[in-house]
Amino acid sequence: MKSAEVFNLRLSKGVIERYREFLPVSLTTPVVSLQEGSTPLIPSPWLSQRVGGGSKVFLKYEGLNPTGSFKDRGMTVAISKALERGAKAVVCASTGNTSASAAAYSARAGLRCAVVLPAGKIATGKLLQAVMHGAEIVSVRGNFDEALRIVRAFAELSDFEIVNSINPNRIQGQKTASFEICDTLGDAPDIHILPVGNAGNITAYWLGYREYYEVGRSKRLPRMLGIQAEGAAPLYYRSPIPDPETVATAIRIGKPASWSGAVEAVTQSGGSFEIVSDEEILNAQKLLASKDGIFVEPASAASVAGLLKCTSSVRCPTCPLARLEPESTIVLTVTGHGLKDPSTPAANSPNILEAEPDINDVLRVLKLK
Ligand SMILES: *Cc1c(COP(=O)(O)O)cnc(C)c1O
Repeated sequence: MKSAEVFNLRLSKGVIERYREFLPVSLTTPVVSLQEGSTPLIPSPWLSQRVGGGSKVFLKYEGLNPTGSFKDRGMTVAISKALERGAKAVVCASTGNTSASAAAYSARAGLRCAVVLPAGKIATGKLLQAVMHGAEIVSVRGNFDEALRIVRAFAELSDFEIVNSINPNRIQGQKTASFEICDTLGDAPDIHILPVGNAGNITAYWLGYREYYEVGRSKRLPRMLGIQAEGAAPLYYRSPIPDPETVATAIRIGKPASWSGAVEAVTQSGGSFEIVSDEEILNAQKLLASKDGIFVEPASAASVAGLLKCTSSVRCPTCPLARLEPESTIVLTVTGHGLKDPSTPAANSPNILEAEPDINDVLRVLKLK
């Protein structure tokens, strides 16, 4: 095989090549890919047991995308389209993962990338990614909603491509996660649970599920359950929050750009929005890491916290989990990798045992001797 063929073969694994007929690309669109997508759908025995009734819970582990979050699915489409129309530069506001992804895909495409970040609220790992991929970083004294307001004003500069999820190509790319879930399970799940911040992802998942249903690749539609952090829950409270606050920085958003898309997903599917506290989020993060071996960032753990809360004794009557049929299939998206945000988890003060450099002493402190 010639090296060029090997190159094409490897590129053929990205979401554009795999789901081309569902995406706004043509054969002449230059494909900018890091082989995103094809993330594992991992069964979770302890969460399945928690739900009971023979139901099965699966985790769509989006932290295994190239830059460690689902943002890569949308970014491959957004950057490919930017390159196709001749944009010279890319810009985004970000709580961290959009900038990490935009920076990586821009680097790959040879495009300039500017990111506008809310000061002091970006997880260390995410900021480091943007730096390493060569993005130009501007920190503004304000929150994400204010950063996005600034970026929207870039729309008048035609050389710039805005790659936030207000860019419809982002939503298009992100809907491929639904396709993968249906392809793996043979149908859509009964319930899909995911964290909601700017609400692009819940909008994208619902679009993907509907499209697959319409062409007959799935036989049902899931009920969508969107989880918000208590201090940043505008969709749950049906009103924007001026000063959103939560440890889960990726969903620290008070005025979601895809508000109507999220409401549509929940109402059309017969789902709901629910809230979880920061304590419940950090507890779920630790449980997921220690029981399933899956380390996710706090925002991602909101899905798990939501499932745990909605299957506890205090069941909210509007939640789809409150009226669950036996043997249901439930999919949770865990959106980003835990290593991105090393300072937030409760593991800040780890319980590390100390011993002399001697096997007997190590066995002693481990109480194995
Ligand atoms: C972006 C992001 C979210 C929120 O997704 P929205 O589309 O903004 O609702 C959740 N978790 C992680 C890890 C993210 O990066």
